[in-house]
Amino acid sequence: MNTKKISPLFSVSSQISVTDFGTLASQGYRTIINNRPDAEADDQPNSYELAAAAQRQGLHFHAQPVESGKITDADVVAFASLLKTVEGPVLAFCRTGTRSMTLWSLSQAPQLSTRAILGSAAAAGYNLENLTERLERQRSRPGIGALPRSPRNSVHDVVIVGGGAGGLAAAASLLKRRPELDVVVVEPQEHHYYQPGWTLVGGGVFERSQTERTMASVMPNGVQWQHSAVAAFEPAQNAVILEDGEKIQYRALVVAPGIKLNWDAVDGLTETLGRNGVTSNYRFDLAPYTWELVQSLRGGRAVFTQPPMPIKCAGAPQKAMYLSCDHWLRQGRLNSINVDFCNAGAVLFGVPDYVPALEKYVEKYGVHLNFHHNLISVDGPAKTATFKVISDGQEDTTTVNFDMLHVCPPQSAPDFIQTSPLADSAGWLAVSPETLVHPDYGNVFGLGDACSAPNAKTAAAVRKQAPVVAENVLAILEGKAPRAVYDGYGSCPLTVERGKVVLAEFGYGGKLLPSLPSWLLDGTKAKRAAWFVKVKLLPPIYFDLMLRGREWLAQPALLPGEPTPQEVASAGAEKPLPQTRKAS
Ligand code: FAD
Repeated sequence: MNTKKISPLFSVSSQISVTDFGTLASQGYRTIINNRPDAEADDQPNSYELAAAAQRQGLHFHAQPVESGKITDADVVAFASLLKTVEGPVLAFCRTGTRSMTLWSLSQAPQLSTRAILGSAAAAGYNLENLTERLERQRSRPGIGALPRSPRNSVHDVVIVGGGAGGLAAAASLLKRRPELDVVVVEPQEHHYYQPGWTLVGGGVFERSQTERTMASVMPNGVQWQHSAVAAFEPAQNAVILEDGEKIQYRALVVAPGIKLNWDAVDGLTETLGRNGVTSNYRFDLAPYTWELVQSLRGGRAVFTQPPMPIKCAGAPQKAMYLSCDHWLRQGRLNSINVDFCNAGAVLFGVPDYVPALEKYVEKYGVHLNFHHNLISVDGPAKTATFKVISDGQEDTTTVNFDMLHVCPPQSAPDFIQTSPLADSAGWLAVSPETLVHPDYGNVFGLGDACSAPNAKTAAAVRKQAPVVAENVLAILEGKAPRAVYDGYGSCPLTVERGKVVLAEFGYGGKLLPSLPSWLLDGTKAKRAAWFVKVKLLPPIYFDLMLRGREWLAQPALLPGEPTPQEVASAGAEKPLPQTRKAS
């Protein structure tokens, strides 16, 4: 037996014998995979004998035989699926280890670079250069990559709850800084969504497929994906409990489970969504229905609703409205359609600087603004919507007919956050607005929509929060105080017409934080350049930069303190730190 470690959770070996299992168990392996067909050679123990030996040592054993030089794509898929379900660390073997190494390499191609795979193989003594072309081909087949599950009950450096925008951006930023970090992402979904694109799907600009990727294909390299949901938190024990009861321990916890969409809080809504002219861009499957309704509406009344704050992307309800109106105007139908914007709040947009530009479009499209109108029930078949209305301090209800109804649902923190010891009094994940550290548990961090921080709940906010979380997690793992600070940046590209956007960018207290100088792009006005940013630049910025730890225009400001090891390395000398500055 000659074992070679390829990754923390995967090793390969030449042929093993029944007497090797005690050693393998003592070395911490949990699963042994036999890739060699039985009876290839006379002196070879068969799978039955090997399985019995494994069982005696409490190890799991799987036989997945493949013929030397004839590994098929189906073999690779089967191996990848096996790795997804078994407990690691895993040892796979064949006669020399080459077949196991080949299977692993091809199964990892969607998530590791060809160079990294060939480099790992070469370091273990396997020359797989002749696989280069096949690895490249395999890279474009998302969804087959896999990492063995993390060992049960071990303590991970970082556990991240949620594989959405916040969870994956934080994981990528952490691993960019410290590639050897043991990072587990707990995420139940098979797919990851670029939700900012749903407005464009509802406006007929994007296909919904442009907003969906397999979760496996967007997991940052080096992350262990725990395909499950967190049910509860035990922060005093540094542990999270998964839905199947498994406990995972951490040194640092990052919580990013997003926001809960409370469709059921509006009577009759769930039953009629996707039918009777009732739609919402807040769901991947319904955004195409919005565009279907917009195209087919010839006259009547279109109602767009906005619930009480906070919601994710506060501009999304009116973005849906503007793009719809723009289409009706271009088709010469707008005169026959009454458009109502029914907003539970009191203003069109929370940051006053952007309101004049939006009001111009409200006027242009002839939209009736109805403030203090909170949707409470929908009757799909009757095509009526009922609102709770507050007028002169008096509460009343009003019911309107509609031909098309676009609903933005009421929102709250997810239930398992609300009932956890991590919640603030309003149910949100409590964090310091600046360091994003939990006020009571210094090794717990949060980012994204579930947080209590009073920023605009957007993916743009996440882009700036992830590097702050990464810096501060590493600081506390090194026993230092967090010192990266978040300025509350968030952004809302308001698609006021097809081809123009009001690009709102602001931080805490509504302070304008434009990324570009106003002579290049004035965010308070509707601009073509901002449409280009929204449609062409932001999707690749999200997938290729943010989810990969490339922090373009997103380096966090650092408070004074000891330099991080990264800073020392890049400075090459122990220079004094200026008062507040960008991380290197
Ligand atoms: P999400 O990205 O929603 O991810 C949360 C993840 O946590 C999910 O994958 C979920 O499966 C997982 N999860 C949930 N519960 C658990 C659990 N118990 N255990 C483990 N995992 C769990 N932002 C912008 O910047 N610009 C825009 O133009 C914009 N437009 C938008 C338009 C629409 C219609 C919508 C819906 C959103 C828009 N956003 C926009 C907002 C943006 O998408 C969110 O703010 C962002 O996705 C928040 O990231 P997050 O990680 O907090 O949550």
